[in-house]
Amino acid sequence: MAETAQTDRPTPAGDAFDVDLFVIGGGSGGVRAARIAAGHGARVQLAEEYRVGGTCVIRGCVPKKLMVYAGRFAEEFEDAAGFGWTVPEPRFDWSVMKRRRDAEVARLETIYDTNLMRAGVDVEPQRAVIEGPHAVRLVDSGKVVRARYILVAVGARPVKLPDVPGMDLAITSNEVFELETRPERILVIGGGYIAVEFAGVFAALGSRTTLLHRGDKLLRGFDDEVREGLAEAYGKRMDLRLGRTLARLERRTTGILATLDDGDTLEVDQVLVATGRRPNVDGLGLDSVGIAPNRSGAIPVDAFSQTAVPSIYAVGDVTDRANLTPIAIREGHAFADTVFGGKAWSVDHGLIPTAVFSTPEIGTVGLTEAQAGERYGAIDVYRSSFRPMKATLSGREDRMLLKVIVDVATDRVLGVHILGHDAGEMIQAVGIAVTMGATKADFDRTIAVHPTAGEELVTMRVPAVTKRPQSVG
Ligand code: FAD
Repeated sequence: MAETAQTDRPTPAGDAFDVDLFVIGGGSGGVRAARIAAGHGARVQLAEEYRVGGTCVIRGCVPKKLMVYAGRFAEEFEDAAGFGWTVPEPRFDWSVMKRRRDAEVARLETIYDTNLMRAGVDVEPQRAVIEGPHAVRLVDSGKVVRARYILVAVGARPVKLPDVPGMDLAITSNEVFELETRPERILVIGGGYIAVEFAGVFAALGSRTTLLHRGDKLLRGFDDEVREGLAEAYGKRMDLRLGRTLARLERRTTGILATLDDGDTLEVDQVLVATGRRPNVDGLGLDSVGIAPNRSGAIPVDAFSQTAVPSIYAVGDVTDRANLTPIAIREGHAFADTVFGGKAWSVDHGLIPTAVFSTPEIGTVGLTEAQAGERYGAIDVYRSSFRPMKATLSGREDRMLLKVIVDVATDRVLGVHILGHDAGEMIQAVGIAVTMGATKADFDRTIAVHPTAGEELVTMRVPAVTKRPQSVG
């Protein structure tokens, strides 16, 4: 983690600056950076144009996970019957869920605000833009703040499909949290984790759900068998349409008519587009300092999150490195320690445990089977696919899949992939071992916890596949 610092510190004479650090954006990365920098004694100001907490807290990870929990009760009620319970016809009230979810989000927002205040950060509830290497303009008040350093932590925003007629009828992941009622019929477009998670939520809550993705598999970048396992499970829960695209949307008196590229039509009450996100750099003033966004619209930075302008840094989704909350937080922390704490370190983006809160859930760390096969001489793939114990009485058909991918030459575990109940919780723990460089022998000598699904991780002895490069034969 720790590396040598580069900090090319601008050192103007006297107290030429109003603040040591101006943070633009009060999301995961900005809030962490502001608090840590203030803790190191810096005078910090932060501008947030919407709500402190950012995407994750206000309209991302947190409210989404609460909706995932809401959806999962449906299966729990069903499964309970197999264990002898008589469950009266369950009824779901969207407005109760929404009210309680929104209250929880508001509670967290207050905590974020309070923590910033306690750290001594001055929060400006308005938009801010860059006016120079050391100048930020507060848009509402017009005030210009002179800052020794500027941290851009403005995140990203959802984008719609630009070429599809009728796109104004669709909502994005921002508006989905504002829906006052549960749509009876919903079309979700996209194959990434956000589309997959919301399709799972709506299907579980009883909406007739269609998930449309132009690719032939969901979740690009994940292990192929996990992708196939999820598609199989989703195919039983919703109308899954792969390899198809949306041609247009039209308003009808009874709903929205979606026409697909093959001429097929379906009428729905809501269309949720989750096909991509773009860094929030429009009108930010990057041109005033000569920072050119890259092709994905992101701000290019070095390992220490420094841009081409020495006094301006950028962290989080606006840099499009790994668009996850723990990464934004860690980048913000590393920036603050490096620039204000006299302790230079940078974030290792190489090994990132992560989860998809679909049902069944996905947890993954390290290389997929395909990636490991390409990068390593020979790999062993240990695989276990089974019906979890709970499913024996509940009658649920989902299978659990666990894969461990091992470098034959060193015995090191290169990747672990889990599809099934609590995969996200499991992968957090497994991630520690993999990050420490655990070998398959380390997994093998770990005593199993019985009876659990996770014990398969330490009891698989015979590889399902051994892959060797062509040249080796
Ligand atoms: P953000 O959190 O987006 O914060 C940026 C802030 O800057 C925003 O509050 C914005 O209003 C503000 N801002 C923008 N421009 C300006 C300006 N000019 N002036 C002032 N303020 C400005 N990640 C996970 O790790 N796990 C998950 O389960 C997960 N689920 C997600 C679900 C959804 C639906 C979405 C959309 C994202 C999810 N993410 C998840 C991703 C995660 O939310 C982001 O990676 C994270 O929030 C990035 O943090 P950030 O600080 O870069 O930006």
